[in-house]
Amino acid sequence: MQYYSTNQQAPMATLKKAVVKGLAEDRGLYMPEQINTMEPSFFERIDTLTFQEIAYEVAKAFFGGDVDDDALRNIVYDTLAFDCPVVAVEKNIHSLELFHGPTLAFKDVGARFMARLLQYFIRQESQERVNVLVATSGDTGSAVANGFLGVDGIHVYVLYPKGKVSRIQESQFTTLGRNITAIEVDGVFDDCQALVKNAFMDEQLNRHMRLTSANSINVARFLPQAFYYFNAYARMKEQGMLTFDKEGKSNLVICVPSGNFGNITAGLFGHRMGLPVKRFIAANNANDIFYQYLQTGVYTPQPSKQTLANAMDVGDPSNFARILDLYGHSHERITALICGATYSDEQIKETMRDCLNRTDYQLDPHGACGYRALQEQLADDEVGVFCETAHPAKFKEKVDEITGGDVAIPERLAAFMRGTKQSVPLSKEFCDFKAFLMEE
Ligand SMILES: *Cc1c(COP(=O)(O)O)cnc(C)c1O
Repeated sequence: MQYYSTNQQAPMATLKKAVVKGLAEDRGLYMPEQINTMEPSFFERIDTLTFQEIAYEVAKAFFGGDVDDDALRNIVYDTLAFDCPVVAVEKNIHSLELFHGPTLAFKDVGARFMARLLQYFIRQESQERVNVLVATSGDTGSAVANGFLGVDGIHVYVLYPKGKVSRIQESQFTTLGRNITAIEVDGVFDDCQALVKNAFMDEQLNRHMRLTSANSINVARFLPQAFYYFNAYARMKEQGMLTFDKEGKSNLVICVPSGNFGNITAGLFGHRMGLPVKRFIAANNANDIFYQYLQTGVYTPQPSKQTLANAMDVGDPSNFARILDLYGHSHERITALICGATYSDEQIKETMRDCLNRTDYQLDPHGACGYRALQEQLADDEVGVFCETAHPAKFKEKVDEITGGDVAIPERLAAFMRGTKQSVPLSKEFCDFKAFLMEE
């Protein structure tokens, strides 16, 4: 499979190049030249397949020509060493729990897949070290750091905004050591993202070291996120939760709490591959740039605003370029399939309390946006599933304060919190970041 850039000004790339480079030469995002649809027979038997079996079939449609079958199977099975179950919250509203991985958030899936695929490619060639640069507003850093921890030939630099990441989140990427370096930037998430983007554009730096990105822009990170949408559909079909019209369209609505829009874009790819989803909802916090685009047709990036759902505090979502590309820049096609929602911190709090009181289900602040959008927008004949993108314990202080409860901390999270923080403080100026890397 060849990959083209959303900006159309860069040469086509192989999968390997797209994974290693991350971002195309023209700063565009890579898109597969072709999106293969799955056979109808796959959807007929999907409810008899396991999560790993489904994921392997879907992975073959994306990566089959570029990675040999056995290696791909191993990468998929090893990535999905944990489940992503669908849990009923109330009548017609279900939670797709994506927090059962090592760092308790959905980004584990893409990060683990990418680490294994990158290692597969590096093993085929020279011994030169590959350096992964990743900007994080919270959960990306921990997922990527843990996904790559101890992987030979790869070093990871995690850039995060000083004081804007919870202590629990921070502990998941600052305590690891080994091939992981945490960089504490005196700025906001968008500054971290700008530093990473500038590093890729700097010729001198690129001559000095081999750089790659692991943000959700990387095709090896965002495409595997399609796996769990197929599996959610399979499990809901298996349990007889869905209904189908004469054309075989289901009544399933998928709602994704969105920040950089990688997660929902993977779902949209699934839809293009034939997954019978009726429609999608992108739930935003106060960073409502996409919501405004849906209403007006105009996309106006904004500086990011700090909110309770901080992993969604993105003022200029990168993957918007992919959504535009997927639908030929047609606002009409996009709004025909995707609705929006936007919630203030007050509404998020209210939703977490209300859901816990009525259903006993403990939402995290991100999942709360998804749950509420379904509650408000689901029609009587639809069934909704929202992504519960992180475990509430990752935001324990806030969650306990909001609900007056005491969220139990899973042991794998407690283990991180016992570690010692190691980080490199830097300004948000690119020259400082570059000087630091030139010494590495
Ligand atoms: C990253 C993240 C999101 C946003 O996902 P995108 O793919 O960036 O839209 C939502 N919730 C949590 C908990 C996250 O870590």
